[in-house]
Amino acid sequence: MTIKLFDIIEWEKKIQNPFWYDEVPQIIEALNVLRSHDKTEVNKLKDVVYSFFEEKLREGKVALGISGKKWNQERKPIDTIIIHHTSNPEGLSKERLSAIELVRLYAPAYAKRKKREPIYSDHIRNGEQVFWPYHWIIRADGTCDRLLNDNEIGWQAGKWDINCRSIAICIDDDHEYSAPDKKELEVVAGLIKNNYPQVSKDRIFGHCEINLKTTCPSELFLSTPERRGWKDDLLNML
Ligand SMILES: [Zn+2]
Repeated sequence: MTIKLFDIIEWEKKIQNPFWYDEVPQIIEALNVLRSHDKTEVNKLKDVVYSFFEEKLREGKVALGISGKKWNQERKPIDTIIIHHTSNPEGLSKERLSAIELVRLYAPAYAKRKKREPIYSDHIRNGEQVFWPYHWIIRADGTCDRLLNDNEIGWQAGKWDINCRSIAICIDDDHEYSAPDKKELEVVAGLIKNNYPQVSKDRIFGHCEINLKTTCPSELFLSTPERRGWKDDLLNML
């Protein structure tokens, strides 16, 4: 199954063409179809695809733009914070995260654009493009890594206007049906207090509040009449 949906030998050739991204929507569609009836198979296929792109990015073998649209020029003053989780219980390396978002976000977006040009994220580290969607990622041990700089726009909220004015903070864990522990929430709160004191509490949102199609960062983020959500715990720490 996995072999048929993503032929590595074929893809080694495809990624040499700067418009390789045209075929990515088909992979995403295949993942969506598979997801509805075979969760194990979908995870296997994701791992094959993301490992492939992580390795090829490392080797510099994916055809990408050397210049392109200056996305960061659309950056606006920061007045909003968006909270995410990676939904990955094992944690994601920076390299894997970059590969995932190249495939999941940038490739389909470029396939949809009228303008035909190679992918260019406008986020460069050591001369190479990165495709991180978040500004900060909080690890399970309570440490945090800086990903994007504040003057860079993260493709993360599902709404461009919000992306332009927000900072994305991501908890690197699967919190779909659980709350982060106090230590993790304190790190998030500390980040916000120290770096973005200008953002008012009513401009701090979960990804699910901006994009109703996702439950990120958690089914338990928002309070309901029956139970208190962990968003309120976070806001209380500010
Ligand atoms: Zn999210």
